[in-house]
Amino acid sequence: MTGGRFARQEILPELGPGAQRRLGEARVLVVGCGALGSHTAAALLRAGVRRLILVDRDILELHNLHRVALYTESDVGRPKAEALAGRLRAVDGEAEIEVHVAHFGPHEAEELVPRVDLVVDGLDNMESRYLLNDACLKHGVPWIYTAVLGTAGMMMPIVPGEGPCLRCLFPSPPPPGTLPTCATHGILGPVPKALGALQAAVAVRLLVNDGGLVGRLFQFDLWGMEFRELSVPRRGDCPACARGEYEFLREGSRTVTLCGDAVHILPRSREPVDLGELARRLAGLGKVRRGQGVLFFDVDGASFTVFPDGRAIVKGVKDPARAQALYDQYIAR
Ligand SMILES: [Zn+2]
Repeated sequence: MTGGRFARQEILPELGPGAQRRLGEARVLVVGCGALGSHTAAALLRAGVRRLILVDRDILELHNLHRVALYTESDVGRPKAEALAGRLRAVDGEAEIEVHVAHFGPHEAEELVPRVDLVVDGLDNMESRYLLNDACLKHGVPWIYTAVLGTAGMMMPIVPGEGPCLRCLFPSPPPPGTLPTCATHGILGPVPKALGALQAAVAVRLLVNDGGLVGRLFQFDLWGMEFRELSVPRRGDCPACARGEYEFLREGSRTVTLCGDAVHILPRSREPVDLGELARRLAGLGKVRRGQGVLFFDVDGASFTVFPDGRAIVKGVKDPARAQALYDQYIAR
């Protein structure tokens, strides 16, 4: 069955049966299962990368559907990583899909990155990308920086020891909340699909040990159909890849401002939360509703989505400090 499935790809002179086998043996981490991550994961799996680890902290919302892969209306309200895993297993019954419904923080980065051959970027914020960059450099794992916004996207393959890293390209992260996001500037539906396909193609090339794309930043505008390529030099004073200072791997702030005018809050402890008990405790204080594996709580103009691991996504509050204060008041004990 395996031979037939990839027959049209194996006959490519760039690949062949040996390369196809390597794809089947490779393990790839997909960080973020929104539009970019779902398209990349779907394209990789169909191309024969059958061992995937999916990480995403969020639930699927109706306004995601115009740009994502595989998800349907029945997945709205479900954790993205879980829903995507189910769709991918339906595409390929032999696939090994591991799911983490979790925030990609230093703990997850240190645990998951060393286990894989490559990481693909489905992230929606720069803070998490700097963390991913540090983890990949520390553990010598290649990754592909990929970002989408509006009608455009960009991509740069990063291979530790062989070329520039994210901090050679952008030395410091911008202050949280200053970059345009999909929520503030919008996104054209087909853009993540295009960039997901490009990222998957580069991933296949890196997995079969062809590193010819290192040190090149590719930019695409799908409205004007403009494609540009820039050569990115390695910086001799890069804190991450030259000096080995992995500062983003240290436990940092408990709040992250998300794409979508929301604040993500990490719990102080790693103890799981009993959502049933929390629902009873909050019942008289605001509007409480149970979702699939999550709890919704509205109070003081803020809308919380609380996950069983204690994380929360807060909407309706732009100031991270106020979101944190409301979390500490109502959710934390
Ligand atoms: Zn660097």
